[in-house]
Amino acid sequence: MQTFKYSKAPSIDKALAQANGAKFIAGGTTLVDLMKLRVEKPSALVDINLLPLDKIEPTPTGGLKIGAMVRNSDLAWNPEVLKNYPVLSQALLSGASPQLRNMATTGGNLLQRTRCVYFREPSAGTPGGYGCNKRTPGSGCAAMDGFNRMHAVLGTSDQCIATHPSDMCVAMAALEAVILTEGPKGKRTISFADFHKLPGDTPQIENALEPGELVTYVELPNPVSGAKSVYLKLRDRASYEFALASAAVVARVEGGHVRYIRVAIGGVGTKPWRSHEAEAAMQGKPADAEHFRKAAEAALAGAKPRKDNAFKIELAKRCVVRSLKMATA
Ligand code: SF4
Repeated sequence: MQTFKYSKAPSIDKALAQANGAKFIAGGTTLVDLMKLRVEKPSALVDINLLPLDKIEPTPTGGLKIGAMVRNSDLAWNPEVLKNYPVLSQALLSGASPQLRNMATTGGNLLQRTRCVYFREPSAGTPGGYGCNKRTPGSGCAAMDGFNRMHAVLGTSDQCIATHPSDMCVAMAALEAVILTEGPKGKRTISFADFHKLPGDTPQIENALEPGELVTYVELPNPVSGAKSVYLKLRDRASYEFALASAAVVARVEGGHVRYIRVAIGGVGTKPWRSHEAEAAMQGKPADAEHFRKAAEAALAGAKPRKDNAFKIELAKRCVVRSLKMATA
């Protein structure tokens, strides 16, 4: 690990003032790992653990405002989240380990970086190392024809096929969360769909944050009356493992027909993948096996497999079918 300056920010204003060229550090569960691997080499860290962003509060309209410093465990076990947004609690509790969830923050989880093994290789993107366009634009992509079992099949480009690793973000995509930020140009509100970026020709740009901009809150809209929500995660082992495929579903059924539906899938996309196609296939339709399968087919219709990850397509379809069945039961 290379040396860096370290400072603690007592307020949001001070954090923004100290941000020039620095990285913010909160739980450190991703950033410190990446610094040890020399993937991240910040010259300065601004510790934001003192910022007053650790509350979960109701919004005036009946939604929930979550501070960026709220720990994943606290969010997962919050009574309002358990009651009104169970998909979010289930997603959080399916991620990492209790120790990591006690440290990891809401804002940090949003900014998780990929687990692509080539990306995390210290020499990636350097002469003689593995090519990685996310590490060094133009250096190539070793995963494209390398070991790509864990990689994405949706939203890929010829520059990068790295999977977005977060469970929390898949639930937030289905819940249509909104991200609040504060930066040198003032405050911004960013819809969840616009926050994470597809790799395209610039896989090094992963989200809509500008330099020095800080995530301050995530807002969840009002819970949907009468809806049920579930998160289903399929992985190689039952704990402490990233998703091979996952699905977050929010659904309301009346008279056997689907009246409200939101679907997002994880483990298969280069960003948390909201599936409008699956929603269109279910909206107003009977909640039955035929339509669950049609929705799953629609969700994965655009999938592009590589040599090791074609199995994810059928796995993700079955994950969508099962989660739709659970959410509409
Ligand atoms: Fe790098 Fe993306 Fe290729 Fe992985 S998939 S090696 S992160 S460019």
